[in-house]
Formats: sequence, C-alpha cells, structure tokens
Amino acid sequence: MSQPADFAAGRPVVLRNGTVLTMDDAHRVLHGSDVLVDGERISAVGPNLSVPDGTAEIDAVGGIIMPGMVDTHRHMWQTAMRAYGADWTLTQYFVWYYLQWGKVFRPEDIYAGNLLSAIEALDAGVTTSVDWSHGLQTVAHADAAVDALQAVPGRFVLGYGNIQQGPWEWSATPEFRDFVVRRMQGGGDMLGFQMAFDVPDSDEFPERAAFEVARELDVAVTTHAGVRGATSDKGIRAMHENGFMTPRTIYVHAASLSDDSYQRIAATGGSVSVSTESEQSAGQGYPPTWRLRKHGIPVSLSMDTGVWWSGDLFSAMRATLSADRVREHLEAHQRDETITNHHLRAEHVVNWATRGGAAALGLADVIGSLEAGKKADIVLIKNDASPVMFPLLNPYGHVVFQAQRGDVHTVLVNGRVVKFAHQLVGMDLARTRALVDQTVAYLQSQLGEEKWIEGMHPEIPEAKVLDNPYTYTYTT
Ligand SMILES: [Zn+2]
Repeated sequence: MSQPADFAAGRPVVLRNGTVLTMDDAHRVLHGSDVLVDGERISAVGPNLSVPDGTAEIDAVGGIIMPGMVDTHRHMWQTAMRAYGADWTLTQYFVWYYLQWGKVFRPEDIYAGNLLSAIEALDAGVTTSVDWSHGLQTVAHADAAVDALQAVPGRFVLGYGNIQQGPWEWSATPEFRDFVVRRMQGGGDMLGFQMAFDVPDSDEFPERAAFEVARELDVAVTTHAGVRGATSDKGIRAMHENGFMTPRTIYVHAASLSDDSYQRIAATGGSVSVSTESEQSAGQGYPPTWRLRKHGIPVSLSMDTGVWWSGDLFSAMRATLSADRVREHLEAHQRDETITNHHLRAEHVVNWATRGGAAALGLADVIGSLEAGKKADIVLIKNDASPVMFPLLNPYGHVVFQAQRGDVHTVLVNGRVVKFAHQLVGMDLARTRALVDQTVAYLQSQLGEEKWIEGMHPEIPEAKVLDNPYTYTYTT
C-alpha cells in the first residue's frame, strides 16, 4: 500500500483498476481501468497499463476516477466566516459585507479565508477554483490573497475585485497595474487572472472604463449578472451594445434575465456560472439551467461563498440536478401534465462540474478530462469503509446523488498528490486553524458581542398558522 512519502516529486503515479469517467469527447466510461501520471501530465488511460519502473501505485478498486472539479466563482476570503450567514437573504449579505463590515477585513483576514477555502476545495476534489475576490480594498489585500493561493498546491484563478470602490476607480490606479505585472504574469495555467465586477443599473455605464482596462490587459471579466434587486437586463444590454461581451466573459447566476439577454450571451459565446445553492437560498432568481439549456449557453458550477456553503461541488451537482428537475415537474404540473422522462441527466451535471468549468476558464485543452496529454488533475472517489460505495452500477448517478466529500480518497493537481487515503498531503491545517481563529477573534472584537450575535441570527418574519376547520385530537 502506498504512503504519502511514496509520492516524491517526479515519480510517476498510476491509479489502478477503477471505474474511469474520462469526460473525453465521447464521455467514455472505462471499467477496470488505470490512469498513469508522469510529471505534470496524464500519459495513458486504459486497462492493465504497463508503467515505468518505480511508479507509485494507488489501488482504485471499487472507486471512481474522474477529472478534478472546477468551481468558477467562490468568494474565498469569506470562508473565515464559515456558515455565519446560513440564514441570510441576499439583502442581509449585502448589508453585512458591502455596507457594514466588509471594510474591516485586513490583508491577513483575506489571507486566512483564502487559505482555508483553498485547502477545503482540494479536500473535496475541487482542483481549480476561481477566487472571486471582491474584498481587495488595497493592493496589500490582493497580495495577501495571492500569497494564500500560492501557499496551497491547487489550480487557481484570481478574480480581482473591490466592493468598496467602483471598478472604474480601482482598475485605473497605477498600484493595480503594478500588481498585475508583479503577481499575475507568468503564473501559467496554475494561476490565472480575471477582473471581477458587476454592472448595476445606471444610464451612465461608468463600468465602461474597467471593461476597457480588461480589454487592454487582455483578461476575462467575470460579473454577477441577472441578480434580482442588483443587476438586470440593463447591464447586459450596456455590455453588449459597447462590445464588452466576449467568449471569455463569465456571467455569474444569470438567474433573472429575459430571453433577450440570454440570446445576447449565447450570441457572444460567453458562459454562465450557476451557483444553485446560492440562488435557492439567497434569492438571485431561480437556478437558470432549465433556461440556459434552451438557449444553448455553456454552464459551469460554483459554490459562491463559505459564509453559507462549503466549497464542495458534490452539493452543487446534486442541487443543480434537483433544481432543474423540480422546475420541469412544476411547470408540467401547472399545465396538468406529468413529466415521464427527464431532460437533465447526472452525466450532464458531472460534465458541467469538470469540462464545463475548464471551458469557461479557457482551459479546455489543459484540464477537464482524463486523456493522455492533459494536465493531471484527478479525483479518486473511493471509501472502503462506506456502505454507500457499492454496488457501483451507474457511476454518474453515484457521483451526483450518492457520493460526498468524505468519499474523496485521492486528489492530484498538476501531477502532484495533494490528498491520499482521505488525508491531505503537505498542508498545514493546524496553522490554518490558528490564522482563522485570529481573524474570527478580530472580527468579533470589531463588531462587539451584540452585533456579532445579531448578524448571525436575523429576525424571523411573523407567520400565522392558517385557520383549520378540522380539530386536532389525540388519545393517549
Ligand atoms: Zn458571488
């Protein structure tokens, strides 16, 4: 049996005898097959592979080998507030972060949140994460964000943003330009860069200047679009009419747009990052996959923020498949019809969680499938102690509706083993916990006890139990 020490840098690794979801063009599923990794890349996929001398072997019997998952939108800095806002609406989130407390976060708080978020993603088999980093009040905050991403052996994209200023302000500063040159060039496919900002309704469209900076720097823009109460068709129209919608643009949520806006997105080749759990709880709009499918718009998945949810795409896949099906059923029921055959399949959401994310980030040739020549971002789902790992009949269905993050046995990123036998490899969880504890203690001191507790427990609106003509009786 392999030990973490066996995975020395440069030593080939083979995952042996698992069920392989290749997610290649044909979506081939290979039973009893191996995946061989040599250096940063996959060198072969198939049964009974012969491997170089000294290859470390990982027993994948009874397990599912799939591409590393890709989260295209997560506000990683907010993970230091894990689950604090579990009962919030979007309005309460905006008030807490945008108006009241977001500005008290120091660079070290951004670092702590990012570090925790980066590590938990790898633990869950999310090998690529977009850090939608809109807490970057100063370049020192941005340096801290990148320091944390670089301290963890995952694949990341920094989406640079700052909710304390208009994007036309922060993107115009020499410090921002300097940061891009200093930190964001030469990261290759391990550290990408986007600009992250929104286009709320206005007649002036001041975001134009920020889009021009993005165009000049040749970087993608990611934007919360179609968020009820915040962004609408008007922003999409302004972007489209000014030529700022590109195939690299990622529209986050896109949950409350008209057909006209979806047509503009489809026609310019962009993609939508759907955060189903977020849309369901926070209220941006109904999770839009049922409409995106009809417009042929590419989809990727995301978890949005640790202040409600963990960085775990198993729950995104499950919630997204369910939300799409609920919609289909409810609409049919309203017509007094019955759905007898679903449109959306488990296979489709696994595709969105892997290839969909890779394509959205312009990494379709690099990651997203298990094929010789691709970078080796790989997840082995296997848990010999779990009664839920067998029988393994429908591997896509198993991934979506049966598996969970605790079943992630092994994770490789760029050919490096970062989790093995359910244990993270080479990541210091104790140091991370200490840093997060410091951030939490600091934030508690800033808010004071009363505000801290109040923030976590929003008032429940009054609700009256309906009158009931029947009388409840019981006998003992
Ligand atoms: Zn978001």
